[in-house]
Amino acid sequence: MSRLDAYRTLLLDATWHPVRAISWKRAIILDMEDRIDVVEYYDDFVHTPNREVPLPAVVRLRQYLKVYSRGVSFTRRNVLLRDGFECQYCGERPGSSELTLDHVMPRSRGGPMTWENVVAACKECNRSKGSRTPREAAMELRKPPRKPLYLPIVRPGVEHAETPREWLDYLRVVNG
Ligand SMILES: [Zn+2]
Repeated sequence: MSRLDAYRTLLLDATWHPVRAISWKRAIILDMEDRIDVVEYYDDFVHTPNREVPLPAVVRLRQYLKVYSRGVSFTRRNVLLRDGFECQYCGERPGSSELTLDHVMPRSRGGPMTWENVVAACKECNRSKGSRTPREAAMELRKPPRKPLYLPIVRPGVEHAETPREWLDYLRVVNG
């Protein structure tokens, strides 16, 4: 494994929102194709026979690209990420294995398994809500569930030290 394998490049969309981490090789190709602007470099280089190429740390797409706007797939993990691993009723963060997916409009009453009808809930809240709506159970949702356009790139549980310092200024807009 090469020393350079540790580097990842943060991809921002045209509006400066973080999209995802990509490989620096992909970033260099996108740069050669004039599809991105490099906004931040690492203090490191990749040596090619002809020259030294600085490693891109943060890059921004020049234009809206359909390929990056497919949206976020609906999975248990992505619902938990959207909700910040936080029970959407009581606000507790008991850890991902202790969280359930709650149907806001209960499944037994036709509530669909969709971004707009599913939230992270701790086992206790899920149990006490039962097959009632939040209103019937007098349990208020902390925020209305929506389909996210992006997921946070810095995930809960990831050590801060693992996030390259070159990225930090660009991650603040996450969830903003
Ligand atoms: Zn709860």
